[in-house]
Amino acid sequence: MILFSVSSAPTLCRGRRAFPFGRLPNVGEMFIRQPRIGVVYPDRNNAIPLAYVEPAPVSLTTFPLVHLKHKDQDTRLFGTASTAATLIPHELAHALYLALMPLPTRASVEAQYIAWITARVAGGLPPFHNTGLATTPFVAWIECLSIFAERFYFFSRQQPNLTGDNLRLAFINDELAAAPLLQNLPSYQYKSVGRLGPNQNIVPNLVGENVEGALYGAIFLDFARRTTLRDAVGLYLNSGDDNVLNFDDFRNLVINDTGFDASIQAVAVTWQL
Ligand SMILES: [Zn+2]
Repeated sequence: MILFSVSSAPTLCRGRRAFPFGRLPNVGEMFIRQPRIGVVYPDRNNAIPLAYVEPAPVSLTTFPLVHLKHKDQDTRLFGTASTAATLIPHELAHALYLALMPLPTRASVEAQYIAWITARVAGGLPPFHNTGLATTPFVAWIECLSIFAERFYFFSRQQPNLTGDNLRLAFINDELAAAPLLQNLPSYQYKSVGRLGPNQNIVPNLVGENVEGALYGAIFLDFARRTTLRDAVGLYLNSGDDNVLNFDDFRNLVINDTGFDASIQAVAVTWQL
């Protein structure tokens, strides 16, 4: 098991390559910092065949625990000619989000996810989710952050000279362009969630609060464009403190706590949320 620490303390280095919330000068300081994320590699539990994040493990620690299969078992870890390396950005986003969440809310996430998977299997359906697939408002909420993390990661790798606001703005504009950069990424299953119309309004390709691609577009492209990507990501990550686990509750939180009421309402109309 490897333990990572995450924090937004002002003393952290914030370079482009710094570990998600920055990097402390030495490993010892990183190790003791709260909150933490645990990683099990390689995970040998064959009952669950793919990578996943355990939100609130009762054994060992109460940190979110990322389970990664051996690289030969899940080629998404390092990628191959036919598979993009989506695993780290995807699962790490889940883990970071969960690490910042109070333990009772994390336990609720775990229970709700298990309930969803169990109901799918009981109904003879695979427990899969996908950008354009309708699942539930809860699953779509949880997964939309990881769509953002995957895409922002790949986009920033494609644009090594962009940093800060320039990188964030370029990402939003590109994701809403007629020919987004990531659609050409080899072996990445890409789906454009929406594009800019003639009046600079967004025309969505996906809609509905139970569709993760629609929530991704609504929060991390549309709402981010009306505010900033930092605001959108920050509000999403901090919303766990208020037990927000779907778009409806997120909208109420934004209306109650920020001055972005008109933005979030317009977003909800566009994406039919
Ligand atoms: Zn996921």
